[in-house]
Amino acid sequence: MRKQIVAGNWKMNNGLDKTMELLSGLKTQVIPEDVAVIVAPAFTNLYNAFESLRTYPIAVAAQNMHQATSGAFTGEVSATMLKSVGVTTVILGHSERRAMFWETNEILAAKVDTALENDMTAIFCFGEELEERKNDNHFNIVKEQLQEGLFHIKAANWDSIVLAYEPVWAIGTGETASPEQAQEMHKFVRNLVSDAFGNDVAEKVSILYGGSVKPGNAAEIFSKEDVDGGLIGGAALKADDFMAIVNAFA
Ligand code: PEP
Repeated sequence: MRKQIVAGNWKMNNGLDKTMELLSGLKTQVIPEDVAVIVAPAFTNLYNAFESLRTYPIAVAAQNMHQATSGAFTGEVSATMLKSVGVTTVILGHSERRAMFWETNEILAAKVDTALENDMTAIFCFGEELEERKNDNHFNIVKEQLQEGLFHIKAANWDSIVLAYEPVWAIGTGETASPEQAQEMHKFVRNLVSDAFGNDVAEKVSILYGGSVKPGNAAEIFSKEDVDGGLIGGAALKADDFMAIVNAFA
């Protein structure tokens, strides 16, 4: 059975006080043994989050990192810095990074390499924009994002990769891909991985869906065969909502 994962991307929300409050809320709840739960607070709160969750089955991820490990990159944070505060998982290629911070597939390929060289797990995000779906180009776009940003890695490295399909038109919009649309794309992606790296790799990699997942729709989306969990934005900012999503697996 593939690993079931629910990850909360807190984006640029919550100072230290609110971060600790949200973590306290999460820590009052029982985490199901068969679900890997991850939270991604802002850089400034990663250390405190990691310390707070040290004995608790919730992992801490960063929302981004630079591809270089050190140097003159004012304002950036490296893999080694993240690891120095206990963080070994990083979200790469979120659509907000691609759109607002000009992260290309080429840059993301370099970030993936850095993550792997530093023994980190990368949650690799990809997904089409609304216009691309309307033009029936969504499969091509996703294929290109994966082939250019990720498929240069070795088959042995796939243990350190989690995929996250996030159609841009569904992120923060309240509009969710239908469970059938999610399944269709996840199956397509699993087939791409299988063609390039073999069936064993494809069957093992977890593919998360992200885009307006909420307590009310999570169970139906997660019930699809190739959907192995979710990357959650807005609903991850409330402990009860996030835990309802974590508990949505049948
Ligand atoms: C996200 O930002 O990764 C996301 C899925 O956001 P939301 O759940 O708010 O759509």
